[in-house]
Amino acid sequence: MNVDASLPRVREAIAGLRASGAEPVCAYVYDLDALASHVRWMRERLPDGCELYYAAKANADEPILRTLAPWVDGFEAASGGELRWLRQCQPGYPLLFGGPGKLDSELLDALAQPGCTLHVESLGELRRVARIAEASKRPASIFLRMNIGIEGVGDTRLMMGGKPTPFGMDESDLAAALAIVRHHASWLSLEGFHFHLMSHQRDAAVQLRLVQAYLDTVHRWQDIYGITVQTVNAGGGFGVDYADPSRSFDWATFCDGLRTMLDERKETLRLRFEPGRYVSVACGWYVMEVLDIKRSHGELFAVARGGTHHFRTPPAQGHDHPFVVLRGDATPDITEATVTLVGQLCTPKDVLARQQPVQALAVGDCLAFPLAGAYAWNISHQNFLMHHPPTMLYLPVRSSESDTRRLVA
Ligand SMILES: *Cc1c(COP(=O)(O)O)cnc(C)c1O
Repeated sequence: MNVDASLPRVREAIAGLRASGAEPVCAYVYDLDALASHVRWMRERLPDGCELYYAAKANADEPILRTLAPWVDGFEAASGGELRWLRQCQPGYPLLFGGPGKLDSELLDALAQPGCTLHVESLGELRRVARIAEASKRPASIFLRMNIGIEGVGDTRLMMGGKPTPFGMDESDLAAALAIVRHHASWLSLEGFHFHLMSHQRDAAVQLRLVQAYLDTVHRWQDIYGITVQTVNAGGGFGVDYADPSRSFDWATFCDGLRTMLDERKETLRLRFEPGRYVSVACGWYVMEVLDIKRSHGELFAVARGGTHHFRTPPAQGHDHPFVVLRGDATPDITEATVTLVGQLCTPKDVLARQQPVQALAVGDCLAFPLAGAYAWNISHQNFLMHHPPTMLYLPVRSSESDTRRLVA
């Protein structure tokens, strides 16, 4: 995962912002060109026949969706709100609608939309889908989301399946679910199974074994229950190493392994992935201008414009977020120092990175936090303390690609 490639463009954008604005800088900068190259690379590495969807909850900003659209098969919505937003921003693209607690009105909305597939999370939801499909005379394309345990796939701390969660159905519910599907065969079409069991997965070999286990499991279910499905959705969850991005999930190795595995198995099931973080995280930067540098009981603090109400990722991940100092012209206030980077909130939790070494820092310099393109602005409690929102800058794609071949026919 290449992060630094965007830095010159970010630096230039911030210089432009400084030149044009009177107030200290506080901005998100998204490098859409970097995003386009990254998603294109992801798509081109993926074996033929595998599908790539983008999980919009990572970052559903319109320019992000527009940049991704030519390279993805569609988008995954985790709520009725995302579903409506995706349809508005990217009309005609296939959509997947997952997540617990869907409203009847949202299910109806999804059924009314061509090319929308439902990820059914429970037996109760399956019954509601059947009822709504039948009543509205709109057939439903469904995947059953399954929560299964898989042995021997490494660090179970990352595992979201095989233990109690609100997501998906237990294998012991499958017979009942298939009975409901059969009973409503004219209205429910079971297209596949969905698994999203890992998050922050950084081991390509383990992920490959997991995908293999999903495929084996679905073949086993087809044999046991005499059903035929087309597709296995193997979820997202490809991990990013914030401290050392070069140690993030190795997509290239994963895709090579996947190709070999699918060839050797002569696999008949289609595979679909729906990553979020891994797609959009590297295109975004959060940039704050230093307002004050102070010493408190022996420790240095740099107070910068903005904070975790814009950029909740550091506390959400429980980490010190990496950063780059964009030096201005001022003589440094501190050199060769250790400093804690905080925002403008009146809470001691508003910390972006604790006790970090800096070579030189002055009031008026900017702190640029990379890997802020996913689960950053949109997971933040933006109204807390009523500060101004950050400036949003989207640096355009340089060679514009307008490929819409993945539209629903
Ligand atoms: C959040 C989510 C994703 C995306 O996860 P990432 O870690 O961002 O790749 C994919 N599928 C489902 C069902 C999710 O809930």
